[in-house]
Amino acid sequence: MPTVENFSAWLRDYAAVVHDNAGLLTDLDSAIGDADHGSNMDRGMTAIVALLDANTFDTADALFKKVGMTLVSTVGGASGPLYGTFFLRFGAALQGVDPIGAPALGAALRAGVDGVLARGKADLDDKTMYDALAPALAAYDAATGDGIGPALAAAASAAAAGRDRVTPLVARKGRASYLGERSADHQDPGATSVTLLLESAAATLS
Ligand code: ADP
Ligand code: MG
Repeated sequence: MPTVENFSAWLRDYAAVVHDNAGLLTDLDSAIGDADHGSNMDRGMTAIVALLDANTFDTADALFKKVGMTLVSTVGGASGPLYGTFFLRFGAALQGVDPIGAPALGAALRAGVDGVLARGKADLDDKTMYDALAPALAAYDAATGDGIGPALAAAASAAAAGRDRVTPLVARKGRASYLGERSADHQDPGATSVTLLLESAAATLS
């Protein structure tokens, strides 16, 4: 049952992972975007670590509300509002939930992904972060009965598979879509960073 401390540990771990992978994320974005996804995410997650260092949060929804607002104001680009909305909705879904069991965490993930959809209006196969998030949700739900650890592990592998499945496709949303056919056969940066987010969740919240 994740606590506020566990969620903080997740965010700190993700910040470290993003920092270590900033070069990769920016390289992916340089092929089909404007070469800033790594620096955008690193700036945002550095701000989250500063937020955690300077504050204590009593509840998960208070924590994720601040996290979402901080990401919206620091990440920029397309991904800032998308990640920000994900965490705002994720936290709102956890309001008043204690303890947080596997179904509640799954409902929060669903609320977060619905927020990404409401903001970005992506469809499946548009080749965005949604192509990693959608199968992750489905895999989580299918494994909910096994508990949070196995459900998050299943979600993380499904995200990676979704990320890879759309690599051959032509992008239909975001900057990569401006490239048309030339966007094919490049791995999507946002699908890559959300896969790292779920891998980090599986490693820290289990
Ligand atoms: P920008 O494209 O503004 O430079 P980033 O480089 O930080 O922003 O993020 C790019 C990523 O954002 C893409 O790889 C894609 O996964 C994601 N993205 C872009 N537009 C959308 C959208 N409408 N819905 C979902 N995800 C999107
Ligand atoms: Mg970019």
